[in-house]
Amino acid sequence: MERQTIITGNWKMHKTVEEGVAFAKALEEKTAKSKALVYLAVPFTAIRPVAQAAARIVVGGQNMNDATEGAFTGEIAAFMLKDAGAKFVLLGHSERRRYFNESNAFINRKVLRAFQEGLQPVLCVGETLEEHQNNQRDDVLFRQLSECLDGVSAEKMATMIIAYEPVWAIGTDLTATPEEAESAHQYIRSLIDPEVAEAVTIQYGGSVKPKNAKTLLEMPNIDGLLVGGASLNLDFFVEIVNYNTL
Ligand code: PEP
Repeated sequence: MERQTIITGNWKMHKTVEEGVAFAKALEEKTAKSKALVYLAVPFTAIRPVAQAAARIVVGGQNMNDATEGAFTGEIAAFMLKDAGAKFVLLGHSERRRYFNESNAFINRKVLRAFQEGLQPVLCVGETLEEHQNNQRDDVLFRQLSECLDGVSAEKMATMIIAYEPVWAIGTDLTATPEEAESAHQYIRSLIDPEVAEAVTIQYGGSVKPKNAKTLLEMPNIDGLLVGGASLNLDFFVEIVNYNTL
């Protein structure tokens, strides 16, 4: 089955509104010929201006709360992201799990809330270095996926994105080899309801750079990339999005 390649930039806690708008406009212009769909997960403050400045780029948030609304100082609700122009939201990023102690149960509630409010969840999963060295990848992926996707119907699952992000490869310059990533993606797909497994987009994330993007994307089960550091540099990110002409 042909799955549309989706390349997502995750800006994390970087860029002012002005910098984000200028970047998105230039990105849109320089990637007009790419066959990939471009997503940008931007800081909350930049969602509306970036979405307005670059209509071909799909803009989303990097996190949200699981509650509909209420007394949760400093948090943001799904309906607010939607109202600002977000179409998707990253959930369960390893930095959220590590620095903010997010559990699979909490992430599961967020996934359900995102669906309820009409936001596309991009669920991040992946093993730590220690788990990787102890050959626990599959156990970790099984637990994260079954707990984070509890109560999500097969029909809904078909519309979401799963990002395999081995924690040992994020921001470390240690990329999984295309074969390692493909094997994890195959395993993830084998865990999804067979009725919809072929429809689900599975992205790879972890030190993606222009030099490794193409070989990763050539793997049959790697449907896109989630790019952190290299998405902050216009030249690098343009090169990654234009992978089909690299
Ligand atoms: C990420 O933050 O999701 C990520 C993959 O970061 P980097 O590309 O910098 O490893």
